[in-house]
Amino acid sequence: MTGLSGLKAVITGGASGIGLATARALAAQGAAVAVLDLDPGGVSEPLLGLRADVSDDASVRAAVEQAAARLGGLDILVNNAGIGAVGTIEDNPDEQWHRVLDVNVLGMVRTTRAALPHLRRSAHAAVVNTCSIAATAGLPQRALYGASKGAVLSLTLAMAADHVREGIRVNCVNPGTADTPWVSRLLDAADDPEAERAALNTRQPMGRLVTADEVAAAIVYLASPAAASVTGTALAVDGGMQGLRLRPV
Ligand code: NAD
Repeated sequence: MTGLSGLKAVITGGASGIGLATARALAAQGAAVAVLDLDPGGVSEPLLGLRADVSDDASVRAAVEQAAARLGGLDILVNNAGIGAVGTIEDNPDEQWHRVLDVNVLGMVRTTRAALPHLRRSAHAAVVNTCSIAATAGLPQRALYGASKGAVLSLTLAMAADHVREGIRVNCVNPGTADTPWVSRLLDAADDPEAERAALNTRQPMGRLVTADEVAAAIVYLASPAAASVTGTALAVDGGMQGLRLRPV
């Protein structure tokens, strides 16, 4: 139904969380999938794991070329690798701004640049970026992270415009808080992780976190020929966090 059978996909940050769930979901739909990650050690067949650092241009180029050669081309790029930052603008020093923007924003630019020559040869070319509700939500303690994802949203729209006539679609997903190793690491750092998790669940409109598989399903759709007329969109997978107004009026 998705039309993904036989297509070739590269996903960055695909060794954990949302990326790993997406890589597995794409493979389950019949796509050949290469995972580019800092640590691809845990990636197993049918996924092809390749070491790459999206903050290093030479590393990204080499890995994208290797993936395209091994898979026999490239139709889909999922720019998913990202890192977090907590704090206000007074908490994060310049070096941390450079680092997070380098990974979260420039990482997508580098990987897409490397992939474009291959995507141009595909009849079903699609790029999906993992953005966040932090791009538009005004979350406290997320100045740097939110700014990086705001840039990802703008980048998605600009790239969609630049490449629409080449037949390359570009979209993003905006996950809410998703139950991944990233969030577990944050919760584990709290004094009482279980109480923190319960409080986090309570703050969600659905009373629970979004799952990695649910975000993966949205990425798979946007990446697939089923979404052939969809470009320049941001699809929220956030349990209603962005769209609902649950406070009493
Ligand atoms: P995760 O930490 O479980 O996985 C991230 C993966 O990216 C890891 O495998 C890591 O090795 C890889 N990675 C990190 N830096 C890299 C680099 N420089 N080069 C290559 N790979 C690198 O995180 P996750 O929760 O699955 O998050 C994935 C994406 O989803 C991120 O872009 C994140 O901003 C976004 N997101 C997550 C949530 C959430 O609540 N988990 C919410 C909104 C958006």
